[in-house]
Amino acid sequence: MKEIKIFAPATVANLSCGFDVLGCCLDSVGDEMTIRKNDLKKVRITKISGQDLPMETDKNVAGVAVLSLLDHLNENQGFDIEIDKRIKPGSGIGSSAASSAGAVFAVNKLLGEPLKHKELVQFAMKGEFLASGNAHADNVAPALLGGFNLVRSYEPLEIVSLPTPHELRMVVLHPLIEIKTRDSRAIIKQNVSLKKAINQWGNLAAFVSALYTEDYALMGRSLKDEIVEPVRSILIPFFEELEKISSEQGALGFGISGSGPSVFAMCKGDEVAAEVYKSFKKFYSSKEIEFDIHVSEINKTGVKIL
Ligand code: ADP
Repeated sequence: MKEIKIFAPATVANLSCGFDVLGCCLDSVGDEMTIRKNDLKKVRITKISGQDLPMETDKNVAGVAVLSLLDHLNENQGFDIEIDKRIKPGSGIGSSAASSAGAVFAVNKLLGEPLKHKELVQFAMKGEFLASGNAHADNVAPALLGGFNLVRSYEPLEIVSLPTPHELRMVVLHPLIEIKTRDSRAIIKQNVSLKKAINQWGNLAAFVSALYTEDYALMGRSLKDEIVEPVRSILIPFFEELEKISSEQGALGFGISGSGPSVFAMCKGDEVAAEVYKSFKKFYSSKEIEFDIHVSEINKTGVKIL
C-alpha cells in the first residue's frame, strides 16, 4: 500500500467530572487526510485545505507526531501528508488531536502496522505538546481508539478504554469566539477543597460504572464538574442559559468541551438529541454570535479508513 485516505474524528475531552482524564470520540465531525509514501526520505505537509495552518513539518502537529513515530521505529521512509481541515482549530473539539492521531494511524498502516493503536497514543501526544505546550492524551486516545477513554496515568502512560452505551448522542455547540487554551488554563484554581474533591471522584466513579451498566439516569446524575466548570464557564457566552435549555429538553448532562468555547449536551437517543439541537440553534440564532452546531453518535472505532 502506497497511499491511504482516512477520516480523523473530533473528540470531546474534559468530560465534566473527568476533567483532564476522560474523553470520547465523535462520529459526524472530523477531518479527512491523505497520506502517501514518497521517495525523498522526508515528511512533508503537501496540502492543507479548509483552514490556514502551518505547512512546515515541524510546526504542524501531524508532521511532529509522524516524525516522533518514525524516529521510534528507526524508519527513514518519507511521507506526504494532505489535510482537509473541517474541525476549526481552537474549537475545543480536538482539532490538533485529529491531525496528530490521523497522521500516526495512517503512517503505521502504510508501514504494515508495526504498532497497536494504543501504542500510537504516545506519538500523537507529541503533536498535542506542539499545539498547547502540554502532552495531554484525553483527545488523542479517543481519536485513535474510539469510544470513551480514561487516562489513568501519564507516567507510565496508561489508557483505560471504557464501554459505549449505544443510545448516547452528543450535541456540540461551538460559539465562534476565541478562547486561548493558555487563558482558560490560567483561570483554574490550583487548590481544591476536600469536599469538592470527594464529590468529583464520587461522580467520576459513578459515571464510569454507569457506562458499564448502561444506566443513563446515573450518567445524568454524575456528569457534573464542581471544580473547573464554575470558573471556566464565565468565558462562554450564555453558558447558564444553554445549560437550562439542555436540561429542559431532557439531556442527561451538559458541560464544556475541552477547554471551550464548545459546549456539549449528552443525550439518550436521537429524539432528545434532535430537540436539544433545535432549541440550542433557536436560542443562539437570536444572539449576535456566529456558531457551528453538530449532533453525533459516539464513534466506537476512532480513525477510519475511507
Ligand atoms: P484544539 O483544542 O481544537 O486542538 P488548540 O488551540 O489546542 O485547538 O490547537 C490548535 C493549535 O495547534 C493552533 O495554534 C494551530 O495553529 C496548531 N496546529 C498545528 N498544526 C495543526 C493541525 N494540523 N491541526 C490543527 N491545529 C494545528
